[in-house]
Amino acid sequence: LRILGIETSCDETAASVVLRDDEGGGRILGDVVLSQLEEHSAYGGVVPEIAARAHVEALDALIAEALLRAGVTLREIDAIAATSGPGLIGGLIVGLMTGKAIARATGKPLYAVNHLEGHALTARLTDGLSFPYLMLLVSGGHTQLILVKGVGRYERWGTTIDDALGEAFDKTAKLLGLPYPGGPAVERAARAGDPERFDFPRPLVGDARLDFSFSGLKTAVRQAAQALEPVTDKDIADICASFQRAISRTLKDRVGRGLKRFKAEFAAAGEAAHPALVVAGGVAANEMLRTTLQSLCDALGFRFVAPPLALCTDNAAMIAWAGAERLAAGLPADGLDAAPRSRWPLDSEAQALIGSGK
Ligand code: ATP
Ligand code: MG
Ligand code: FE
Repeated sequence: LRILGIETSCDETAASVVLRDDEGGGRILGDVVLSQLEEHSAYGGVVPEIAARAHVEALDALIAEALLRAGVTLREIDAIAATSGPGLIGGLIVGLMTGKAIARATGKPLYAVNHLEGHALTARLTDGLSFPYLMLLVSGGHTQLILVKGVGRYERWGTTIDDALGEAFDKTAKLLGLPYPGGPAVERAARAGDPERFDFPRPLVGDARLDFSFSGLKTAVRQAAQALEPVTDKDIADICASFQRAISRTLKDRVGRGLKRFKAEFAAAGEAAHPALVVAGGVAANEMLRTTLQSLCDALGFRFVAPPLALCTDNAAMIAWAGAERLAAGLPADGLDAAPRSRWPLDSEAQALIGSGK
């Protein structure tokens, strides 16, 4: 199966052609991503209107380029997969309408893919993982712990009750005067810092649920910075290092609790002989986060799977792959009346219904 994928849900315009063989193996034939980072950096965040326009301008050429790199024509594609939510509605409209137009013109089936499903299934493309497994999605817009049971079968075990983790990095960077995007800047500054200097809060640690909370941490950073005014480079480094340490401890507690629950539910029943935790989202670039998750997995007997960074951040290969998995699982394609949805939880009823019995 050869699938053309289209991704336009946030600030990356992307197109990709992915192959899925009969054994379930996958290969990326052509993959292009255009980041709009420069268009948005002056504003310190993603501006929806600018994003939608940039998608319109770039998408057609990116699709042509992905096909060219894959060495295939539209005629040789078996289906089209386009992100139809969740995300910024303007961008979603651009990508989904383009997907529909291609489906209409070629007569090929269209899959309206949930962006989160793309992240959730990537590890099967890169590492051939089998179900079930746990996924931690940490990006600028999402922080979720998701049980991946099968294609179309997801359970959200935990989510943030306020800021996403990437958002916490971005806001912290902003109030310290560091550049956007904040994640890489905070990580860089933290290298020279003292992680013991500030004892920042670790919200929800010890809580029985599996949710996350990061807005209190950001507030604590603001208060620490205000108390020091004027802040020196050394102060900033110490704040960033202490901020990262608080996050590391929070993740250890929250994700650790999730891993234990997974073990109790599956490994004990002999269903997941080799339990695995997959990380996805832009924050997966963070060294501290990777080290924390790796040691947690080592301690609890989990395999830690971190796909290449280009496939952790937003891309179209994961959307094409999700479409391929749906097609291969015999799930029905979507009609040309499929609508973009700015909000679309992965474990929503529609998703579960489509995937029931598989
Ligand atoms: P979505 O949430 O819709 O998937 P997004 O564009 O918000 O999309 P990504 O592109 O996956 O998310 O990731 C961007 C986020 O990752 C930003 O918040 C950024 O600060 C964060 N990030 C990137 N590199 C690092 C890093 N080294 N450390 C921490 N955070 C990072
Ligand atoms: Mg992005
Ligand atoms: Fe994403």
